[in-house]
Amino acid sequence: MAVDLRAEITLSVVIPMYNEEDALPALVSRLRPALDGIGASYEVVAVDDGSADRTASILDDFRAEWPELRVVQLRRNSGHQAALTAGLHSSFGRYVVSIDADLQDPPEKIPEMLELAQRQKLDIVYGVRSDRSTDTGFKRRTAGAYYWLMRRLVGKNVTSQAGDFRLLSRDAVEALKALPDQQQVYRLLVPWLGFPSGEVTYHRDERVAGETKYPLSKMIRLAIDSITSFSAAPLRIATWLGIISFFACLGLLVFSLVAFVSGVAVPGWTSLFVAVLFIGAVQLICAGMLGEYVGRIYTAVQQRPTYFIGSDSASAPAPAPAKAVKSEERARVSVLS
Ligand code: UDP
Ligand code: MG
Repeated sequence: MAVDLRAEITLSVVIPMYNEEDALPALVSRLRPALDGIGASYEVVAVDDGSADRTASILDDFRAEWPELRVVQLRRNSGHQAALTAGLHSSFGRYVVSIDADLQDPPEKIPEMLELAQRQKLDIVYGVRSDRSTDTGFKRRTAGAYYWLMRRLVGKNVTSQAGDFRLLSRDAVEALKALPDQQQVYRLLVPWLGFPSGEVTYHRDERVAGETKYPLSKMIRLAIDSITSFSAAPLRIATWLGIISFFACLGLLVFSLVAFVSGVAVPGWTSLFVAVLFIGAVQLICAGMLGEYVGRIYTAVQQRPTYFIGSDSASAPAPAPAKAVKSEERARVSVLS
């Protein structure tokens, strides 16, 4: 029986990427020397999150000359956290580092993370941003509000300023894989696991090329997923809003009765209008909150995977340097194998 070389991999570096054709050459030119220098076996798991640009073909080209590069192709865009899940689940390494493709997180810190984890026997090493001066004011403020809220909901061990640049041991990855959660928000789940952890601080750079793949809509989605996956507090807010509006209505009732008895003719339209609007708004908020949780239950019951792997270069033969195997051919091979 052949020796399983996968068991020998010390480090897997998982990189979710979506339409990152502009950032890729710079990423490879900094990541490869950093990883070649650690003196241990490694693999780079590039998860192509259904990119519509040339990300896939550029990755193929790099793979022809960089054997440690492995490309996991998702069939369609599934989102950053789902792409991370795909990468974590596919990785083989004894340690797994996740990093963004846009070089905002410096690859040169990866050896430091690995060394710290091995030396102090840590299961998790967070990359902690020393400052966010390169982010826009809007991004800083929304991120600040997000972490403030998460620390209150999830607990003090949520490291603010820690995004998705972190190292996990195989044990931590297996613990994450065993969780039944559908929409996993790793920056909250990882601290919640309670493994011994350390930190490496770094300076967050500007995106090396291209534009952010996180528009406001995706940021709001992440915030809603984060809150509803960790707390039922919003449901209690709904109850409180209901109670408050109930007492407000009682007050209005007393007021209208007094007005009626004392014979004051109330023109009435404004107060009625405001009351109707208020009650309507409260009801909609409550229904919306219930909907978020019902939605989560619905997704959990469906048990659908959050991503689909179209092809994984680890299950296809490595392309020859001179003539790279075309991605369609590789996809066919991986379907057959
Ligand atoms: N990303 C992804 N799928 C998506 C959106 C983003 O895989 O649907 C990747 C993206 O390519 C990058 C990482 O997630 O490697 C973080 O995204 P980005 O840098 O755009 O976010 P920001 O730093 O602006 O918050
Ligand atoms: Mg970025």
